[in-house]
Amino acid sequence: MTRNFLAIGECMVEMAPTGEGTYRLGFAGDTLNTAWYTRRLLPDGWNVSYLTGVGRDSVSDEMLTFFEGAGIGTDLIQRFDDRTVGLYIIQLTDGERSFSYWRSDSAARQLARDGARLDAALAAADVIYFSGITLAILPKEQRGGFLEAVKAARTRGATIAFDPNLRPRLWEAVEIMCASVMEAAAVSDVVLPSFEDEATYFGDAGPMETVNRYTDAGAPLVIVKNGPGEVLWQVDGAPWTFQVPPVTEVVDTTAAGDSFNAAFLASHLQGADLETSVAAGARLAAQVIGRRGALVDLSQTV
Ligand code: AMP
Repeated sequence: MTRNFLAIGECMVEMAPTGEGTYRLGFAGDTLNTAWYTRRLLPDGWNVSYLTGVGRDSVSDEMLTFFEGAGIGTDLIQRFDDRTVGLYIIQLTDGERSFSYWRSDSAARQLARDGARLDAALAAADVIYFSGITLAILPKEQRGGFLEAVKAARTRGATIAFDPNLRPRLWEAVEIMCASVMEAAAVSDVVLPSFEDEATYFGDAGPMETVNRYTDAGAPLVIVKNGPGEVLWQVDGAPWTFQVPPVTEVVDTTAAGDSFNAAFLASHLQGADLETSVAAGARLAAQVIGRRGALVDLSQTV
């Protein structure tokens, strides 16, 4: 029986410097990165699809072609006449990367506008993956409806995975971000936070505080990533840790958490135990941060 993994969020056009005064056009976004790696790791019995909004212009067509080329289903993507996809440019100044964004009016921000359409899209999913960025880009008044739809899908039996991915610049205020993220955790089966962000915005003194906060909100499983430090989770009140493999040359940490989530979930959803699944997450993240860019060709690294 085919199972359906659905990632929800925003993919943007990425303009990355080539070093020769020109820019290379690509596509990236946190939930898309996770969908991309998940597609590579799950076997054929799984469909991996992406739910977002795009325009009807040629760059939106190109984005959909990119998804399809990566084996990611596009049937649930809504097209809007009056909008297009968001864009960011990476600029290199003395070796330091800086980012400029044009995303405040992107088509993806409308992905939850039509509640009936959203419900229908979620109804077919066995696994739903989204992030704090997915919530942040929605108009404030649509976030509650979005989480209600996720909750209804969970009640019907879907597994919900959520990465808080705290990005205060995308939110109206830090307090709103923190409150929304806790509401999302309350409708999730697996929460996948990164400790550094959690400590910064929630003031957690240590990773166990992060586990406890999300567990108390109602999440049955919380896997706390911590850069090169131990991954921490808890089973029946007992702590478990996994020391991630050291990476001697960290080239680019873009998508470390996104790729960790993909490999963890692909392993966990196929029935592996938690330690094996965390190890799979850490192994993939180590490969990804050893190379430039978010989407690394695994055939060249494994
Ligand atoms: P983060 O979101 O920064 O906590 O990182 C997510 C995952 O990427 C971690 O759990 C590690 O598996 C991996 N990772 C990130 N940074 C490093 C690093 N400097 N060395 C080894 N692994 C890392």
